[in-house]
Amino acid sequence: MIQVTNSLSGKKEAFVPQVPGLVRMYVCGPTVYNFIHIGNARPLVFFDVVARYLRFAGFEVTRVMNYTDVDDKIIQKANQEGSSSEAVSEKYIQEFQTDMRLLHIEPPTHQPKVTDHITEIISLIETLIKKGHAYISDDGEVFYSVRSFEDYGKLSKKRVDDLLVGARVAPDEKKKDPLDFSLWKPQKAPNEPAWKSPWGLGRPGWHIECSAMAIKYLGNSFDIHGGGMDLMHPHHENEIAQSEGATSAPFAKYWLHNNMLTFQSEKMSKSLGNIWLTRDFIEKYSAELLKFFLISGHYRSTLDFSEGQIKDHQSALQRVYKTLDKANRLIVLSPTSGGASSAEYQAALKFSETFTNKWQEAMNDDFNTAKVLGFVFEYVKLINSFVDKKGFVLTEDGRNLLKIFLSHMAQLASVLNVFGEPTDAFLTQMKSLFLKSQGLMEADILKLIEERIEARKNKDFKRADTIRDELLQKGIELMDKGTQTEWEAKFTG
Ligand SMILES: [Zn+2]
Repeated sequence: MIQVTNSLSGKKEAFVPQVPGLVRMYVCGPTVYNFIHIGNARPLVFFDVVARYLRFAGFEVTRVMNYTDVDDKIIQKANQEGSSSEAVSEKYIQEFQTDMRLLHIEPPTHQPKVTDHITEIISLIETLIKKGHAYISDDGEVFYSVRSFEDYGKLSKKRVDDLLVGARVAPDEKKKDPLDFSLWKPQKAPNEPAWKSPWGLGRPGWHIECSAMAIKYLGNSFDIHGGGMDLMHPHHENEIAQSEGATSAPFAKYWLHNNMLTFQSEKMSKSLGNIWLTRDFIEKYSAELLKFFLISGHYRSTLDFSEGQIKDHQSALQRVYKTLDKANRLIVLSPTSGGASSAEYQAALKFSETFTNKWQEAMNDDFNTAKVLGFVFEYVKLINSFVDKKGFVLTEDGRNLLKIFLSHMAQLASVLNVFGEPTDAFLTQMKSLFLKSQGLMEADILKLIEERIEARKNKDFKRADTIRDELLQKGIELMDKGTQTEWEAKFTG
């Protein structure tokens, strides 16, 4: 049984979808006017893992993520660039999809754009006006009347009167109440995108789109609504007020909110100038490392980003891949018959028998990916103790254990969306990243190896040792095998 922390009740609850076997899920998507940063990638990576796990657990999943393709920020960017709102949003939808492909994130079932759903939005606003939840100002702006919705604040646990005290709303004669928000905005300049409506030319406000598109693709009531904690108020609160105000049916049953990615404990934001674009991170490191880092903490906790953290995660990921690589190489060898089983073999075997239950229990407990990764490291450590033990001999039993380990990891990779890279290619990539970080090139290492061989021929052992020690300090270990010298990057510690 899956348990989720529901922001609506503030409690951990048993997850029971409204239609047996089917999960309907909505996650707020990007406003397409820029490349996404790694903080934006956190909900994308996490809710993809949620959908993968729900499918793994036997549910059919219908997932919707919207594109906000009409917005002040898009219009502003178009004005700066001397292009159109459509051109800007189309460009960044393409860039967003490229990032999603690089991260191997499964495309949602539906990815609707606001500009394709103006009819649905207008009709939802008309219903809200009819039901007394919205009103029209003299210049054709339509506002939602927050006080008309009794339950306003039930998600973020904010009371309307408290909100008013802290509200720094400029006096606006058009609004009847400072808390009211815009559902339809009249066109202000002739180059602004605008559509015909019963209230004149204009465009939808931000919040109404999610209500209209969730209802269209998932129905009045659905199962999971996801998004960042920073969206809880006002955006998600407003989504509830609009949707339930119009349909009188409960909107989403479970609200799941991921916490923020921080940068030395500060929020990652453009104004603080501490933005790491997803694309830049992938270019400098890898998509795999970003996904691994983003699921390394529980989704409801903040995750602090620093290059030091990233280096640690790089080493940890490396350790897993090296073990996968080792197991892949060993299982193709012929085992010797018989042979006593070591205590290390027994310990790893025992762990492998409980591994599937362990990680699924952790996922069932509010998608605790951090705990799952803890089990992976334990598993890897036990497998390494087994195969790295002095005098290790591959027996049939040992080979079977390695096969089970590989199949367990492949199954987990399909859910977590990490550990699924081909090991050879991945290790080569990691090796080159490591050399780059040490300011080394493979050619330099080979040159030094030549020089050392020459020095040894000339009985200059001091010079030969210096070369070996200097390389070792940079994490490069030399191994003399007969007349050959091989090198290995010790990037996993
Ligand atoms: Zn939304």
